[in-house]
Amino acid sequence: MSFTLAIVGRPNVGKSTLFNRLVGKRLALVDDQPGVTRDLREGEARLADLRFTVIDTAGLEEATDESLQGRMRRLTERAVEMADICLFMIDARAGVLPADEVFAEILRKKSAHVILAANKGEGAAADAGVIEAYSLGLGEPLRLSAEHGEGMNELYTMLLPLA
Ligand code: GDP
Ligand code: MG
Repeated sequence: MSFTLAIVGRPNVGKSTLFNRLVGKRLALVDDQPGVTRDLREGEARLADLRFTVIDTAGLEEATDESLQGRMRRLTERAVEMADICLFMIDARAGVLPADEVFAEILRKKSAHVILAANKGEGAAADAGVIEAYSLGLGEPLRLSAEHGEGMNELYTMLLPLA
């Protein structure tokens, strides 16, 4: 038994940094559908003894005719459909921005199993943003530093029941 985790959130919060930490060099693009490999990156994740599939919503930053919000909505909904669980990431240093609230609304409606992650959580500069994250209505935020590898034990504990 394994599961699929989708990492969603607005650009620049650290999604790909976490994806790369979980996947390392084992990145395997598996979907041949046009656009899918570019928009959603899929990899084989390892976290201690856990093995699972992880999806990074990577296509948000590209400039297209579609508005960023439309694109966020479309990609997020697709990732949610593919995933057993979503890790919704915000930037704890920036706090909760309007774009984060758009994601939270999508995720609350889709009622997927959601882990709210407050990333860039290393250091005191993140304290206020971590507290602010409660306002998203998605439960207790998981304080992470994808860059420094902090909070990975807690992430493991949250994912373990799904494995
Ligand atoms: P994405 O657009 O959500 O995929 O974000 P990226 O993974 O590309 O990261 C955006 C920027 O945030 C990069 O400069 C990263 O190095 C930085 N970043 C990612 N995780 C952390 C973190 O835990 N702490 C800090 N301080 N910076 C981070
Ligand atoms: Mg990215």
